Amino acid sequence: MKHLPDFIQRLIDQFDKLPGIGPKTATRLVFDLLHRQDDVREFAEALTQAHNKIHFCPECFNLSDDGLCNICANPARDKSLVCVVAHNQDVEAIEKTGDFDGVYHLLNGLMSPLEGVTPDKLKIKELEKRLEKNVIKEIILALDQSMEGEATSIYLSKLLKNYPLTVSQLARGIPMGANIEYTDEVTLSSALKNRKQI
Ligand SMILES: [Zn+2]
Repeated sequence: MKHLPDFIQRLIDQFDKLPGIGPKTATRLVFDLLHRQDDVREFAEALTQAHNKIHFCPECFNLSDDGLCNICANPARDKSLVCVVAHNQDVEAIEKTGDFDGVYHLLNGLMSPLEGVTPDKLKIKELEKRLEKNVIKEIILALDQSMEGEATSIYLSKLLKNYPLTVSQLARGIPMGANIEYTDEVTLSSALKNRKQI
């Protein structure tokens, strides 16, 4: 039974869609925000700006404000070393280690047949296109140690056997079930250094 004005309910529904936020938290956030007039305006403007400026790097699909992302555009980065990750936050986590000087490829998710995420829904064809047009020597699979991450790693490692390159994955320092984004820098850095060829 709805008793809230539609515009508030609409806002709550939007917050509720975000990961890790249930309807209760969504409601609390919206009520809190609506009581802070200046913040509401600032929030609305920031969202509109983000929506207008959002752009994906045509090479790696990382977020960018225009054209290539800062990482792909950096001549100091090794373009022959590509780290395959699921999400933007994984790039942030690996960048924080300061130990990776290659470039990335964002899949925009992980395979999950139950949720209808099949390989064609991910940026896998785009990865193959990159392999065909660039000299890539090594691909590091840096995917979550979850069922979805494992399934995606297995799929990709089979596919990548068709290409003359080394395929490796992060060492098992990362606990089972852990997400890359929540793994601490030291563990992630060591998992990267001790990556295993597969
Ligand atoms: Zn890029």
